[in-house]
Amino acid sequence: MAQSIYKLDTPIEYVKGVGPDKGDMLRKELGIHTVGDMLFTYPFRYVDRTTFHLIKDVNVDGDNIQLKGTLISVEKIKGKTNRSRVTAMFKDSSGFIELVWFQGVTWIDKTLKIGEEYILFGRVTIFGGKKQMAHPEMELLAQAKAAPITKTFDPIYSSTEKLNAKGLDSKFRRNTITTILSGLGTNDLPETLPDDITKPLKLCTRAEALVWIHFPQKDEQKEAATNRIKFEEFFFVQMRLLQSKLVRQSKFKSAPFDVVGEKFNTFYKHYLPFELTNAQKRVIKEIRTDLGRTQQMNRLLQGDVGSGKTIVALLAMLISIDNGMQACLMAPTEILAQQHYASIVSALSDMDVKVAFLSGSVKGKKRQVIFDGLADGSIHIIIGTHALIEDKVNFYHLGLAIVDEQHRFGVAQRASLWKKNDNLAPHILVMTATPIPRTLAMTLYGDLDVSIIDELPPGRKEIKTIHKYTNARPDVLRFMKQEIAKGRQIYVVYPLIEESAKLDLQNLQNGYEELLPHFPQPDFQISIVHGLMKAEFKDKEMQRFVTGITNIMVATTVIEVGVNVPNASVMIIENTERFGLSQLHQLRGRVGRGAEQSYCILMSDYKLSNDSRERISTMVSTNNGFEIAEADLKLRGPGDIQGTQQSGIMDFKLLNITQDRHIMDAARHIAIKIIEESPEIKYPEIQAEMTRQQKKHKDWGRIS
Ligand code: ADP
Ligand code: MG
Repeated sequence: MAQSIYKLDTPIEYVKGVGPDKGDMLRKELGIHTVGDMLFTYPFRYVDRTTFHLIKDVNVDGDNIQLKGTLISVEKIKGKTNRSRVTAMFKDSSGFIELVWFQGVTWIDKTLKIGEEYILFGRVTIFGGKKQMAHPEMELLAQAKAAPITKTFDPIYSSTEKLNAKGLDSKFRRNTITTILSGLGTNDLPETLPDDITKPLKLCTRAEALVWIHFPQKDEQKEAATNRIKFEEFFFVQMRLLQSKLVRQSKFKSAPFDVVGEKFNTFYKHYLPFELTNAQKRVIKEIRTDLGRTQQMNRLLQGDVGSGKTIVALLAMLISIDNGMQACLMAPTEILAQQHYASIVSALSDMDVKVAFLSGSVKGKKRQVIFDGLADGSIHIIIGTHALIEDKVNFYHLGLAIVDEQHRFGVAQRASLWKKNDNLAPHILVMTATPIPRTLAMTLYGDLDVSIIDELPPGRKEIKTIHKYTNARPDVLRFMKQEIAKGRQIYVVYPLIEESAKLDLQNLQNGYEELLPHFPQPDFQISIVHGLMKAEFKDKEMQRFVTGITNIMVATTVIEVGVNVPNASVMIIENTERFGLSQLHQLRGRVGRGAEQSYCILMSDYKLSNDSRERISTMVSTNNGFEIAEADLKLRGPGDIQGTQQSGIMDFKLLNITQDRHIMDAARHIAIKIIEESPEIKYPEIQAEMTRQQKKHKDWGRIS
């Protein structure tokens, strides 16, 4: 790296040995446009060039392997019906293997040298009962020995069939990267992290990392390069998130709630229906501190189902009222909103607080009364559905907006809540019962403050979770009768996904019909509810279950979100293998809400995939939402977890958020320290890199 022939933004076709045709293919097939793109596309694995397999020992397991031996014959076969091919015989001290080429036949035929020693690299398959290697990478042993770099590891890059066929294989990539590295000047690859960071963490330099990631000569270099790059990937994501938080905080001001006044105190002293858990107390303190500032609160409250988020919401709303401002609580469904409304009205029954409800079902004159009450400030708390964000809803002064079950609302919907005030934005609290693993939360919500309720109210009996195969159905039916005789209610849940909706509904219907003879009327009542039913029937059936008229509710996942029927103590999940882990956990959360022992029975076929087995055994072994979220993340990978796809921030090249937790912790910790020290970042190398990256990314920082 001395004289500068290339820059990072030099088009890839200008690199010696590439040219317009290959450049075109690299662009189209791999999105590699520039020198930088090529350099920052890392190998996905390495071949240890110091070990060779023996032909007699090779497995046909799909892995690439390295052989050393002699080419003993070559034959060009002219195809009559199909295309020509070249086959060759290769031998080492242990046996023979056939090599075959279907493409570039003429060229291959010409270059192969019979009698020479080669190093081969490729995948072994069985064809016609014989071991075969198709399109191996080949290098003359003599040449490999004379290569300028003493090779220990060869990088292997992900590629496409098309590229390989045209000779743009890993070997080509290695050569091109070597050319690039020797053609970049020292200033073309500037350091992005100051010594203050790299020294204490013992990170290698950026230049070292880029050489070593492609051409490591020992394991330590591979590791050093990987660590450095992973750190950098996460560090700059964190810097961006934290900076956009700063920007938001300076742009959006909220009213500081400096009074913790009469309403809060009265309620806290006299009407609190139970002793708060320590986790609830801690979270309320966090929220109170936030609310006292002129900076807009943007807090995510995570707590497992049943952890008691509602009371936290209520207390926060009282602080808002004590400061002369209104509060709203928005829920994703009518039923949930109504439940919140009912419980909050009853909690506040002895207090002088005006609570109102708004949803699509509130119509005509009633609706107008609510609009008026919100506009003149006589309504203190409004609870409702997304009807709250309609244009017609105007507040006198909205101080706090709370959103329950965050994942059901879109980002835009949430954002429209805080435009409800002209000057000052309301403080925002988003509550979710879907625990997100900490590493994922850092990545997705790095610009939000996160509060966690990690403790269930006391006296709650742990839900017993049991796995049963379908042939144990008679036992399950007997158990259901027994629980109903004790006065309990039961959910029976079926999967329903769009792609197989018809079949799924049929399943549900069948299940319902099979239950009928076992639970005949008039002694028993069974409700059936699914998402394709008309809303009014659905609500009516739900209501029948909520009020205890029906004993069994056969349903699809419509009951997943927040419904609270404390008397329902048994959850039977059919076709368990078809549910995702976090969905199962959400469903299970519908029981265990009362004083009785609750049960969750996971029904499945005998035949289960490994993943399904893992999901079921995780459910059986733990009730902890965070543990389940971690397991889910491991099973599915971050790409499938809700909210990650559209965020565009999960496309790390090397970082693996399920495995690199300590790197992520360190990177976040340091990013926070730097931002807190001074919003004007004092390290020019960091600032320069952020500016560079900013050009590449549009602003996705404002999540809430
Ligand atoms: P979620 O976090 O799922 O919204 P809720 O707020 O609905 O949970 O609370 C679940 C149940 O637990 C409610 O019946 C609520 O009254 C009760 N609860 C909440 N906090 C406590 C507590 N500290 N002690 C006893 N019961 C509590
Ligand atoms: Mg809730």
